Amino acid sequence: MNSTQAAPYANLHLMPIAGEWRNGSSGQSMQVANPYNAEVLLEIVQADQQDLDQSYQGASQAQVQWASTGPAQRTAVLLRAVQIFDERQDEIVEWLIRESGSTRIKARIEWAAARSITLESASFPTRVHGRILPSNIPGKENRVYREPLGVIGVISPWNFPFHLTLRSVAPALALGNAVVIKPASDTPVTGGLLVARIFEEAGLPAGVISVLVGAGKQIGDAFVDHPIPKFISFTGSTSVGMNIGRTAYGGKHLKHIALELGGNSPFVVLADADLEQAVAAAIMGKFLHQGQICMAINRIIVEEALYDRFVARYVEQVKRLKIGDPNAVDTVIGPIINQKQLEALLEKISLAKKQGATALVEGQPHGLLLPPHVFTDVTADMAIAREEIFGPLVGILRARDAEHSLALANDSEFGLSSSVFTGDLERGVRFARKINTGMTHVNDIPVNDEAHAPFGGEKNSGLGRFNGEWAIDTFTRDHWISVQLTPRVYLGG
Ligand code: NAD
Repeated sequence: MNSTQAAPYANLHLMPIAGEWRNGSSGQSMQVANPYNAEVLLEIVQADQQDLDQSYQGASQAQVQWASTGPAQRTAVLLRAVQIFDERQDEIVEWLIRESGSTRIKARIEWAAARSITLESASFPTRVHGRILPSNIPGKENRVYREPLGVIGVISPWNFPFHLTLRSVAPALALGNAVVIKPASDTPVTGGLLVARIFEEAGLPAGVISVLVGAGKQIGDAFVDHPIPKFISFTGSTSVGMNIGRTAYGGKHLKHIALELGGNSPFVVLADADLEQAVAAAIMGKFLHQGQICMAINRIIVEEALYDRFVARYVEQVKRLKIGDPNAVDTVIGPIINQKQLEALLEKISLAKKQGATALVEGQPHGLLLPPHVFTDVTADMAIAREEIFGPLVGILRARDAEHSLALANDSEFGLSSSVFTGDLERGVRFARKINTGMTHVNDIPVNDEAHAPFGGEKNSGLGRFNGEWAIDTFTRDHWISVQLTPRVYLGG
C-alpha cells in the first residue's frame, strides 16, 4: 500500500486555471526550495489578477454541472481520491518533507489527517438534508433546501499545507461547490498543486478546482474581494485573517468567511497529574513540526507543588531530542520554514531573555535548524507568554494553585486549543469547561484534529467550525422556500 505504483506527478510547476494546466501570466517567477538544504525544487511563474478572474469564472461555470451530479457520483470521486492517497502515500509524504520541512513523523500524521477528512467528506453528499417546517399561515408549507454555496476561495498556510487545504476543499467539493485555492508561497505543491492533480486523477471534472500560485500581498485582496466567491475559507495568521474579515465584510461584495487563525495554547499541569505522562505530552505537543502548529503548546502552566519536578524532567527530555535532517526516521526537530520566520524566532528568544526569562535549554541555529529553547521564570506579561510563538520555544509558568492556573490559561487574546493534565478526569472536565477556547483536551496534547469533531477557535483565534456535520453547515446555505398550497386571505380579501 505504501509503494507508489503510478509514475509520480509531472509538471508540478504548472497550475490548473479554469481547466487548463499552464504557467501563471504575471511573468514573475518564484522558486520553491527545500528549507533543510536549500535545494530548489521548482520554479513557478506566478498567477496574476487575470488568472484569478479566469479561475473564478471557470469555477462558476463548472460548479453548476458539478452540483447537479448525484450524490453517489460525488462520493465516488472523493473515495477515489482517498484510494490515490493510499497509492501515492510515499510521494505525498516525500513532498511534505522536501517542501515544508516536515519530519517523517509529522508528514505521516499530516497525510493521515488529510486522508481522514477526505474520507469523512465522502459521506457528506448523502448526509446533507433539507427540512419541512410547520407554518402559522393556513395552507402554507415551509421548506428549507440545503444548497451548495457556489464557488469557494480557499487560502491555506504553509505549516500543514496538504491537510489544511483539504480540510476545506474535500467538504466543499463533496457538497457540490467548486473551489479556487491560493496556497502559501512556501508550499504551492502540497498546499494546492498536488491536491488538484489527485482530484483530476480521481475524476473531478476540469475547472471545478483551480489553483493560483502567487504572493498573498499581490493577489490576496482581489482573491477575497472578487464578486464570484460566495465564501472565503482562510487558515493562517490572525493579522492576515483580520484583514480578510475587513475585506469580506467591508469590501464591495459581502460574503461568508471562515477564519482559522493563530493560537496560544495553554498546557496546564495540575498538582495531581501523572508527571511522566504530562512531560511526554508536553514534548510532543510543543515540538511536533518544530512548534509550527496553530494548536501547539505555547505556554506550559504548572501548579506550584509539581513545578520543580516537572521542569527538571522536561529539560532532561528536551535535551535528548534529535535535531536535523527531516528525512531521517528519528528526527524530531527539522528546519524552520524560512529565514524570515527564523529571524522572528531569534528575536523572540532575545526578547524573552531581556524581559527576565531564564533559558534552561538553548542553542545556536545552523541554517534553518533551530534547537529547542525552554524558559523558566516566565510571567504572564512577557511576550513569550502573550504572543503566538510558532517555533520550538516554550516558557513554563508557575501557578499558585488550580484557580491561578485557570486564570493564567484564560489570560490570552487567543482561544484555539488547550490542555489540562490531572489525576481526576471529572475535575479535568470541570476545569476544561472554564477554559475559553474552542477545543480542550483532558490528559492529552492540545494538538488534536479528528475529521468528525468540531474544529475551531474562540476570540482572536477565529470564526467558524470545520469537520463532520459542522462542515456540512459551513459549506452549504439554507434556502427557505414557502409554498402557499391554498389561496391565502389578504387584506381586503
Ligand atoms: P499567513 O497569514 O502569513 O499566510 C496564510 C495564507 O494567507 C498564505 O496562503 C498567504 O499567502 C496568504 N496571504 C497573505 N497575505 C494575504 C492577503 N493580504 N490576502 C489574502 N491572503 C493572504 O500565515 P502562515 O505564516 O502561512 O501560517 C502560520 C499562521 O497560520 C499561524 O498564525 C498559525 O497559527 C495559523 N494557522 C492556523 C490554523 C488553524 O486551524 N487555526 C492552522 C494552521 C495555521
